[in-house]
Amino acid sequence: MLGLMQDWPLRCHRIIDHAALFHANREVVSRSVEGPIHRTTYAAIRTKALKTAQALEAEGIRVGDRVATLAWNTGRHLEVWYGILGCGAVYHTVNPRLFPEQIAYIVGHAEDRVLFTDLTFVPLLEKLADKLPTVERYIVLTDAAHMPQTSLKNAVAYEDWIAGFDGDYAWKEVDENAAAGMCYTSGTTGNPKGVLYSHRSNVLHSMAALQVDMLGLSSNDVVMPVVPMFHANGWSLAFGMPMAGSKCVMPGAKMDGASIHELLESEGVTCTAAVPTIWLMLLQHLEETGGKLSTLKKVVIGGSACPRAMTKKFQDTYGVEVIHAWGMTEMSPLGTLCSLKPAYAKLTGDARLDVQEKQGHPPFTIEMKITDDEGNPLPWDDKTFGRLKVRGPAITSSYFKGEGGEILDEEGYFDTNDVGTIDQEGYLRITDRSKDVIKSGGEWISSIDLENLAVGHPDVAEAAVIGIAHPKWDERPLLIIVRKEGREVEAGDILDFMKGKIANWWMPDAVAFVDEIPHTATGKIQKTTLREQFHDYKFTDA
Ligand code: AMP
Repeated sequence: MLGLMQDWPLRCHRIIDHAALFHANREVVSRSVEGPIHRTTYAAIRTKALKTAQALEAEGIRVGDRVATLAWNTGRHLEVWYGILGCGAVYHTVNPRLFPEQIAYIVGHAEDRVLFTDLTFVPLLEKLADKLPTVERYIVLTDAAHMPQTSLKNAVAYEDWIAGFDGDYAWKEVDENAAAGMCYTSGTTGNPKGVLYSHRSNVLHSMAALQVDMLGLSSNDVVMPVVPMFHANGWSLAFGMPMAGSKCVMPGAKMDGASIHELLESEGVTCTAAVPTIWLMLLQHLEETGGKLSTLKKVVIGGSACPRAMTKKFQDTYGVEVIHAWGMTEMSPLGTLCSLKPAYAKLTGDARLDVQEKQGHPPFTIEMKITDDEGNPLPWDDKTFGRLKVRGPAITSSYFKGEGGEILDEEGYFDTNDVGTIDQEGYLRITDRSKDVIKSGGEWISSIDLENLAVGHPDVAEAAVIGIAHPKWDERPLLIIVRKEGREVEAGDILDFMKGKIANWWMPDAVAFVDEIPHTATGKIQKTTLREQFHDYKFTDA
């Protein structure tokens, strides 16, 4: 017997409809790429999204076509995001921090037909245009007054391009399982692979992510997504904010500490989200200027491990709660968030920080397991490391065009390529990427744990740990350090600081100092480059 409920397909454009009806005048504030602060509302965003959908259709864009954006977080980006998916096409957010050849590869692989871009990226695209044969038209997210002279094919200013349309448009009623968006994985090895989100997966994921124990956004929140919309489905905030009716503050192109601080204070931001490197810049700025965080209540930190010292600083010095989060492009992207369940909620001081160092627990819709290399399940005892595998309705089942072949195990789980432990409360602790874990004498050493500990030293700006071949132990850890400006800390000081806080056999065998640690396009430490850099390194006693 079937239930007698209405069939209401989970389409993403219903989210902006909801916001425009029930949170019509809630503001969307942007630091525009042209410079000034720009203010609009969810109702106005929806109207312009409808015009975008109309204009795309007039352009010949049909259901399933891919339309790229190479753009910062702004209200205009939000308008075209909904306009693209609203006409049945697929938004493809392109990360401008990728190498130009990678941008050409993914735009070609996705077969993007139209490309929306910001003024910032016009020169980059002009250089790259002959490698982007699928793109029929470039739309610059600006108005006629700011439109530059450009050689880009059929280039037009966005505001001019939609000006002739009235917004009298009915969203395309595609199947809820139809593709709505796509994002390529950062691809530290091999070519980036395309992850294709459906309308249904985006809606379900955003609902799960909004739960109080997860992002917990409300209509009273003022949310600033510093994490770019082009990084891992923008952590689903382009859906979550209008779904909750939160005021939205978009930082545009400026993500330095001073600019972020200015917006946090001037717009009364209560919740923000980004990778640790952004927060390093903010905290440094606050330290230098003596600035305060007067309205911020919660900062969501993920994309790479959030160091304990960062959590402590936010909480103890600025009174801002840190929510550590883990996820990946393939998971739409949120996997776990570290809100505190009753078993941990009353902890204080170091015991609380011990839990907050973990990546947290998943919402309903995500199942996870850890296994050994043969696929046998491992216990949830907070100690045993295993390969982390996940399944759920917003987790990829295969990559675009079948790249990488079959990616699920016989139970339908996706191997995250992360290694972690799970505790009795279901809290995940990521100990490494499977290729970064240090294999020493048949045991595993977590490079992330060592890095987190080392950055707790007051003179250390950044730390990375890689395994170096060792004749006896197979591999041993090398700690690579960037000193804080003007500090003179030496290897012995850092090792003394670490001693006693980890098992003796985890202690790095040596410390190397560098001026800079390389990062990927999504702000993660680029271990492949570090391994190349230290390819010939030998421990003195090995
Ligand atoms: P991406 O798809 O670019 O977001 O990268 C996903 C990968 O980033 C994950 O598989 C993890 O290796 C890493 N990652 C994300 N969040 C965290 C975190 N909180 N701690 C440690 N690693 C993380």
